[in-house]
Amino acid sequence: ARVIMAAGNWKMNKTPNEAAEFVGALKAKVEGAYSEVVVGVPFVALSDVKKAAAGSNIKVAAQNMHWEEKGAFTGEVSGQMLAEMGIEYVIIGHSERRQYFAETDETVNKKVHSAFKYGLTPIVCCGESLAQREQGVTADLVRFQVKIALLGLSADQVKKTVIAYEPIWAIGTGKTATNEQAEEVCAIIRECVKEVYGSEVADATRVLYGGSVTAASAHDLFNMPNIDGGLVGGASLKLDDFEKIVKYN
Ligand code: 13P
Repeated sequence: ARVIMAAGNWKMNKTPNEAAEFVGALKAKVEGAYSEVVVGVPFVALSDVKKAAAGSNIKVAAQNMHWEEKGAFTGEVSGQMLAEMGIEYVIIGHSERRQYFAETDETVNKKVHSAFKYGLTPIVCCGESLAQREQGVTADLVRFQVKIALLGLSADQVKKTVIAYEPIWAIGTGKTATNEQAEEVCAIIRECVKEVYGSEVADATRVLYGGSVTAASAHDLFNMPNIDGGLVGGASLKLDDFEKIVKYN
């Protein structure tokens, strides 16, 4: 069975001190939780957060990485650097990175390969805009994004990959997709993985939902058959809300 993941994506929030303090407090609250707990924090807070999370069940994610190991890429951070810090996960291809920082399906795929090369597990984001949903291209678009993101990976790598379905119209808007809308697309994603890698792989790969997940909506969403947890923005910045999401049952 797939372990439900409650992953926070803090985006550009919390200073290193604030981040460490938050994780220090979160530790006791989520000890022994049945879901896997991940916090996605800004690069500059990774080191302090790793220290704060030591000896706990909290895993740490970066929010981006470059696909090269090193070189003349001013301002970038490589998978090798993250791996040396003991970072477990890396969020790749978030819609905000696609929108504001020219991330493409091709760079997502390169980053996913590089993540695995350095022992990091990618959390790959996909999802449609409101216009795309209204044009009826959601399924085609998401299948395209997922297929390219996973191109060239081994079956074992795809099993480990976490895919997050985040409809852009539901991010930070307070408009959560309905359980049925979220389930429908997460099922399409699993079907798409199955077409390429077979059912054993598709049954193992975790598919998360993201977009205005709250303490109130997590229970029903995470209990949908093809939704294996959430990638949570705003609500992951608040201790009590995130604790409730981790303990969604
Ligand atoms: P919100 O939960 O704030 O809508 O953000 C979702 C998201 O983008 C997580 O990656």
